[in-house]
Amino acid sequence: MRRLTLPEYTSMQSYSLCLTSVLDLDLKERLNGVSGFIEGVSNTYVDQARLGNVYSIPPLKHPKGEDPIVVADVRKSELIKLYGYHMVDRQPGRGLYDVILVSANEQCPFCGGIGRPKSLDHYLPKANYPQYAVLPQNLVPCCRDCNTEKSNALAATEDEQSIHPYFDDDKFFLEQWVFAKVNLTYPCSLEYFSQPPNEWGDVEKNRASNHFRDFNIGSRYSVQAADELSALVDLRRGYLSDISADEFSRYLASVSNSVSYFSNHWKRVMYQALAEDRNFYGAAL
Ligand SMILES: [Zn+2]
Repeated sequence: MRRLTLPEYTSMQSYSLCLTSVLDLDLKERLNGVSGFIEGVSNTYVDQARLGNVYSIPPLKHPKGEDPIVVADVRKSELIKLYGYHMVDRQPGRGLYDVILVSANEQCPFCGGIGRPKSLDHYLPKANYPQYAVLPQNLVPCCRDCNTEKSNALAATEDEQSIHPYFDDDKFFLEQWVFAKVNLTYPCSLEYFSQPPNEWGDVEKNRASNHFRDFNIGSRYSVQAADELSALVDLRRGYLSDISADEFSRYLASVSNSVSYFSNHWKRVMYQALAEDRNFYGAAL
């Protein structure tokens, strides 16, 4: 929904930073020993992500068991703790964590900013992809609701991949693919839906629609719109009670076109739908 600037830190900068606070010398040596592997698979991640093919990266294979060795002599839990203990909880890793978190500017990229990012989400989950536990390009600021809505199921096809805020094509962020219709019930409400442009390919259309469904964008946007709509109806009944239908429509369109809203912002889409629905003028009285 919202584009984020790709973190500038490389996989090795992040990995070494997190290793700084590992005090167990044996563990530190073993983790250092697999840094070449981590760098190689991280390069693969970035290459595939640029092609929109992150789904094609298979989960890290390992033997069955409680806490298997996943590469050389390093266990799965040891890679995962590099994130939990050495990036989330300790400096200097925490410094990088915070840099990535604040890069979202208080707006969650998955839901288009209706939530504030509270933590970093692993685009490819660390349980299946421990090799990417501290890869900056796999860590996306995420709000609590999106974290809850996001299914842990791995994308099995290209279509099922949620929109990657760092890598995906500009069209997902710049073009409009979320629309709304006005329900002139009492009280009025907004119903949002996904409708990608006809000229998009099938995979892109499906990805946008799946993202919309997986993050429950429709009902979350409607909830946001309900408050705004109620205030707008009050305005129409009061200060704007003498306004003509054309003027009212122009007013709604001007709010929709405010430069501060991106293409699929709930408020932009809401005012666009209201401006286009001529019956709202009378229904809001
Ligand atoms: Zn969110």
